[in-house]
Amino acid sequence: MKILLPTTALLCLLGSSLALAAPFRAGTATVDITPPVGYRMSGYFHERLSKGTKDPLLAKAIVFSQGDVTAALVCCDLVGIDPKVAQACRNEIAGKFGIAAENVSVAATHSHTGPQYWGALRDQFHKAAVATYGSDPQEEFDYPAFLIKQLVSVVGTANERLQEVSLSTGYGHETRVAFNRRFLMRDGRVKTWIGLKHPDVVGTAGPIDPEIGLIRFDSVAGRKPVAMISNYALHLDTVGGQLFSADFPFFIQQALTKEYGEGFTSLFGIGTCGDINHVDTEAKQRNKTEAIGEMISESIIKVLPDLKASADPSLAVRRAVIQVPVQKYAAEEVAAAEKEMEKFSAKDTPPTDPVLTYKIVALQAYKEATMPLEIHAFRLSRDVAIVTLPGEVFVEFGLDIKASSPFETTLVIELANAAPGYLPTKKAFVEGGYETVNSRIAPGGGEAMVETAIGLLRELHEAE
Ligand SMILES: [Zn+2]
Repeated sequence: MKILLPTTALLCLLGSSLALAAPFRAGTATVDITPPVGYRMSGYFHERLSKGTKDPLLAKAIVFSQGDVTAALVCCDLVGIDPKVAQACRNEIAGKFGIAAENVSVAATHSHTGPQYWGALRDQFHKAAVATYGSDPQEEFDYPAFLIKQLVSVVGTANERLQEVSLSTGYGHETRVAFNRRFLMRDGRVKTWIGLKHPDVVGTAGPIDPEIGLIRFDSVAGRKPVAMISNYALHLDTVGGQLFSADFPFFIQQALTKEYGEGFTSLFGIGTCGDINHVDTEAKQRNKTEAIGEMISESIIKVLPDLKASADPSLAVRRAVIQVPVQKYAAEEVAAAEKEMEKFSAKDTPPTDPVLTYKIVALQAYKEATMPLEIHAFRLSRDVAIVTLPGEVFVEFGLDIKASSPFETTLVIELANAAPGYLPTKKAFVEGGYETVNSRIAPGGGEAMVETAIGLLRELHEAE
C-alpha cells in the first residue's frame, strides 16, 4: 500500500532523519594536574603537606559533538572543584573553542589525596602561614591558575580529537566494596562510621547503589573502543597518607588499558556517595585501594560483552540552577566559630567541634540566605543520559534519579562545578550524623535538586 503524506509532513520526516544522520562524535584527552611536592593536601581537618606522588592526579575530558550541539565533561582527581575555578574554565573553554559554557560540566572524583587549594580550611592554613612567615611557603606555586590552564587545555585537546563513535551502555554490579557508613542506633538516631558491631547499633541506616553505570565509545573508523565513562557511588578516601594519588580510579584505568590497549581513556564519574564508604565494619581488614580498584574493574569487564549498542545517538543538553536555603547561624555563633577556626592551625589546642566550626565559617561564603545548585543533564542517545550535580550527594538521591529517569541507562555524577558540602536527605537531617553537621543546606534542598534533575531528564526524553 502506498502511503501519501502531505508535503509538510514529508519535509518534517526528512528533517528529522537528516538530523539523526549527523554523526555523533567524541574526543578524549588526559592531563596531569599534580601539584608540586609540599603543597597542602585536602580531605581531612588537619594540615597535611604532601611528601610525594603515589600516582599522578589527572584530569580527563570528553567532548561530545553532534550537528550543532557540542558539550564537554571533565573528571578531575580532586576532592572538590572550586566553583570559581570551574566557572573560569568554562568561560575560557567557551571563548577559545566555542563550546557553550552552559554545556560544560567540570566534576571532581573526590580523591582525598589531592591538593587543598581553596575553601575555609585552606584560607585558615594560608592565613596562619602568612602570619608566621610573611608569605605562605606551601603556596609559592599558584595551583588554581595552573589548574585552570590544564583543564582548559585538556578540553581543547579532546575537542581536536573528535571522531565519529558508536555508543554502548549498561550497568555492572558491585556489592563487595561499598557500604553505607550511617548506622541506626537503638534510640532512633543515626551515627556515622560507628559500625555494625557496636552494641547499640540496630543496623545500617541506608542503602548502597551497587550499579556501575557504563558508557563505552568505539571509534567507527578504527573499529575499536577508545573510551569509557564509569560511574560508581563510593567515597574516594581509601589511600590516606601524604602522597598524592587518584585513589581507586587509577586501577580502573590500568585494567581497561590492559583490556583495550594503550591510549584508551577511562573516565571515572563519582556516583552519589555522600553516605557511602569502603569500610566493611564486620570485616577483619579493610580493603586496600588496589583491591577495590581491581574488584570494580572485574565487575566492569565482566559485563563488557553485554553492553547494549545505542542505535540512536542524539546529543542534547539541559541545565538548571536552583536556589536552595542555607542554614542560618546568629552573629555571635559566627563570631565564635571564626575565633575557634584559628585553632585549626594552632598545633596544641584543636577546636572542640571542628566539623561544626568549619561548616559555620564555610557558610559565610554565601552572602544571601540561599546557595545555587547547578544541575546538568546530557542526553547522548535515546537510551542514555548523564546527570551531573554539585556537592556530596546522598546515595538515596542518586537512586531516586535513576529510578525515575526515562532513560534505560542513567549515570549520576556528583561534585560537579561546585562543592557546597553534603546534600543529605530530609530524613537524614532528622536522624543526625556527621554528614548533617557538615552540611550547609537547609533540609529539603537535596529533594528540590532531585526533582529538578528528573524534570530535565524527562524534558530531554521528550525533546527532538
Ligand atoms: Zn566526602
